[in-house]
Amino acid sequence: MSKIAFIGLGNMGGPMAQNLIAAGHEVTVFDLVPEAMDELKAAGAAVADTAAAAVGGAEIVISMLPAGAHVRDLYAGNGRVLESAANGALLVDCSTIAAEDARAVADAARESGFDFIDAPVSGGVGGAKAGTLTFICGGDAAAVDRARPILEKMGKAVFHAGGHGAGQVGKMCNNMLLGILMIGTSEALNLAESHGLDPAVVSEIMKASSGNNWALQVYNPYPGVMDKAPASNGYQPGFMVDLMAKDLGLAMDMALTSGTSTPLGGMARALYTTHSAHGHGRLDFSSILPFLKGGEL
Ligand code: NAD
Repeated sequence: MSKIAFIGLGNMGGPMAQNLIAAGHEVTVFDLVPEAMDELKAAGAAVADTAAAAVGGAEIVISMLPAGAHVRDLYAGNGRVLESAANGALLVDCSTIAAEDARAVADAARESGFDFIDAPVSGGVGGAKAGTLTFICGGDAAAVDRARPILEKMGKAVFHAGGHGAGQVGKMCNNMLLGILMIGTSEALNLAESHGLDPAVVSEIMKASSGNNWALQVYNPYPGVMDKAPASNGYQPGFMVDLMAKDLGLAMDMALTSGTSTPLGGMARALYTTHSAHGHGRLDFSSILPFLKGGEL
């Protein structure tokens, strides 16, 4: 069993850390919000006062933070992880951030003598709770192999996409597709309903037809169709609109630097940022369905 430091215990990090504890690992946790650590403490985690204290004795450091600025600050700034981690510790960042931020942290880690991999995830809060996430890793193959047995306690699939930053590139491509397909699924359900069809029935029709997709299978955006989906729980996240808008912004940055045409990705970004500007940034991203309808949320 390994000694693991887990930093960032939000919607995703909390249940991921729970799964490591359940698998018998010795886990020390830290989050800027003290209440976020209470559940983990009850589950058997040791709680640290600072990130630097959390990583002191750890063989593996895992972080799950909102955005690139938080990750850079954790490792190479105020979080002082690179100064405080134990010799030989493997550093694994599971946050979704820009590939260049991941590469910058990897470079700083290398200069301090540490292996670092970017290992963003897909599968949402449901996947984090069930331990069925997909990890998309960037970094040296040996470092990814070293992380693999730990990642497999939190997920069902671990991919090595390429060198540092490649995990983030793969993740951004996936999330651009997810943002687009949630909008498309919402448009189809709204259209069906406006012509008198039951959204639950039309969802079953599309699941058995060529429009079948992940949103219909596990994350239906129409309230009441799927008990455990955020849509049936007041659109509480889940995956926040602001995080989807962030990911689409990162995808559009990537498109700009490579000169790739991504018109639907651009449109999806515009819709989610407008949705956020209406004060809905902290709702689940499937709330794009009532937003498109022009209805109250
Ligand atoms: P969240 O906002 O729920 O959690 C982030 C946590 O990090 C918070 O508890 C916050 O207090 C903590 N934090 C911030 N800065 C910190 C610091 N310096 N030190 C310690 N803790 C700090 O976000 P989330 O939904 O858990 O998402 C985390 C990451 O995972 C994001 O990059 C997101 O894009 C990605 N992601 C989210 C989902 C999802 O469905 N929510 C799915 C896949 C990937």
